[in-house]
Amino acid sequence: MSDPILPTAEQMQRRLQELLRASFATPAPLPEEPGQKPENSAAVPEVIRDFHLTPKDIKKHLDRFVIRQDEAKKVLGIAVCDHYNNARSMASHPSDAAPLEYSKQNVLLAGPTGVGKTYLIKHVAELIGVPFVKADATKFSETGYVGGDVDDLVRELVQKVDGNLALAQYGIIYIDEIDKIATPSDVIGRDVSGRGVQTTLLKLMEETDVALRGGNDLPSQIQAAMEFQKRGKVSKETLNTRHILFIVSGAFEKLGNIVARRLKKSAMGFGAAPVAAANDSGEMLRLAGTRDFVDYGLEPEFIGRLPVRVVCDSLGEQDLFEILQKSEGSLIRQYERAFSAYGIEAVFSSDALRHIAVLAAQEGTGARGLMTVCERLMRDFKYELPGASVHSLEINPAVLQNPAESISGMLKLGEEASRSTQRLVIEQFAERFGGQHGFAIRFDPLAVDAILRMAFEKNIPARDLCESLFKDYQFGLGLIARNSGQSEFVIPVEAVEAPDRVLSQWVVASYRTKEDHEKP
Ligand code: ADP
Repeated sequence: MSDPILPTAEQMQRRLQELLRASFATPAPLPEEPGQKPENSAAVPEVIRDFHLTPKDIKKHLDRFVIRQDEAKKVLGIAVCDHYNNARSMASHPSDAAPLEYSKQNVLLAGPTGVGKTYLIKHVAELIGVPFVKADATKFSETGYVGGDVDDLVRELVQKVDGNLALAQYGIIYIDEIDKIATPSDVIGRDVSGRGVQTTLLKLMEETDVALRGGNDLPSQIQAAMEFQKRGKVSKETLNTRHILFIVSGAFEKLGNIVARRLKKSAMGFGAAPVAAANDSGEMLRLAGTRDFVDYGLEPEFIGRLPVRVVCDSLGEQDLFEILQKSEGSLIRQYERAFSAYGIEAVFSSDALRHIAVLAAQEGTGARGLMTVCERLMRDFKYELPGASVHSLEINPAVLQNPAESISGMLKLGEEASRSTQRLVIEQFAERFGGQHGFAIRFDPLAVDAILRMAFEKNIPARDLCESLFKDYQFGLGLIARNSGQSEFVIPVEAVEAPDRVLSQWVVASYRTKEDHEKP
């Protein structure tokens, strides 16, 4: 049992806050002087003034990183473009004109863990150039004493951009685990705090001014008290949530049952059978309507503020394989970089990626399983190889299954093994280049030898050498593809020796071909 005399940390925090409030509550924000602009009427940032993306641009960008989730990419693309187009036109709208009508396109993403929900939002925010914060709904309690304060999210947005209010007001707030604060009405003794959090979130999603100094957290209260002592007033800095885009998500595991029950009931009632088509839980989620979310325990006003709803697919073995192979954010690139920092050129065979994907799928945590499995499989290599005389590492299933044996073999083998790995690295460079830029390249065998020789002479990894030699090729070959329709290129040895000269010759020739074609 705890000591009855000593208060708990929470009690202590509460008492301190009460004391601070009682002593300094009077420094209420000073009334604004007439004609004085509120401090939150920040200028419109460039990223909003210049926002001209289309939903297709957004999907195309997301495709580079996120595998599958096509529906979510489209829906997000549309919602995000509507949101920022509206923000742009409101910004250019004269303040005395009638306000433009617009209902905010806040989004609800449903789907299991580890399928890319956060990853999608992170990349959307990066593309647009606005800050993004994420929190779990479960961390907020109604009072804000024990858990976090919902308003903290807005303050976090401001911190993310170092106090740039102009930009922060257009940020994205992403709240996960929203299904965990649902409070089904048929549960006896139901948890009221979930409803409380929904109501608070609702206020934020509608439009409200959030004080940039938190009401409840101790440091900001002390800061406010100190400011009052110094200046005799506390500045009223607020941020309006009108332009903040809210995205909420959750697994909604049991929602499928509610939908199925409803469909079954209506099928019995009207003699139709729409249930048959929807047999897996993802399909059921897709059929969920507002009524189902309310039955699940979300308040009608709350779900009403989330007009855009989309389901993310669960990921199978093939998807996980493609994440490793194709996503620009693939974990494999991270491993390659980690080894490269020790001067080791690592290359994963396609079979190795398949092996990892199979094990990761068994974890049942979506793409998160990839991290767990890779960490486990690669641990010995990451520990034993740095500092040893190994400069290349070819990962295939056999190597992954017998790490100890493979490592001692690698330590014995020398230059020859390194060369064969480097050939693979060059092959993979060509494959990735094709995947990323939409046209195929292949190296002539003499070009491969030349790259290997050059990498050896300059003592740099073959992958780095390829990246620097052919850094302009994506643009040049893109031009050629547009001019002549050519979509496959063989890189000759001359291009290794003089990459820029060869590329410009090709580009010039392609313009001639184009002119010839266009001649009447
Ligand atoms: P959640 O759906 O739970 O929000 P995350 O987006 O946080 O999952 O996924 C965790 C990590 O797994 C991401 O950072 C990303 O590296 C990877 N990942 C998840 N889904 C995908 C996907 N569809 N395509 C590519 N990578 C993915």
